[in-house]
Amino acid sequence: AAPPPADSPTIFDKIINKEIPAKVVYEDDKVFAFRDIAPQAPTHILLIPKIKDGLTGLSQAEERHCEILGQLLYAAKLVAKQEGLGDGFRVVINDGPDGSQSVYHLHLHLLGGRQMNWPPG
Ligand code: 5GP
Repeated sequence: AAPPPADSPTIFDKIINKEIPAKVVYEDDKVFAFRDIAPQAPTHILLIPKIKDGLTGLSQAEERHCEILGQLLYAAKLVAKQEGLGDGFRVVINDGPDGSQSVYHLHLHLLGGRQMNWPPG
């Protein structure tokens, strides 16, 4: 697999800046959440930091990112509740080529609305 690309703007910058449309489900001062364009479950939402600050992926996290990482995880819980996922859900971070990451702006996948399989494959 190819190495991950350097830190450069991604499609998610255009979504944050509303240059391309997205179905936004949650927004606060730091976190932006919108429906995945190719949903893999009845609910499939992406949660991203509004300011990337070098976080192309989780593998690039530094200690200064701990607050935003926590905020993203907590926002995932809020959105899961908002989406009615009371029977459970899954949160996924794909990292790098082996993790099948395709967009190099850190994002959490929130998946639910059906039985999620384990192991994921
Ligand atoms: P990754 O594979 O990097 O973990 O996930 C990237 C996700 O972004 C994929 O699930 C893909 O469907 C989603 N995605 C890519 N481009 C767009 C877009 O323009 N709009 C939305 N809403 N989702 C996108």
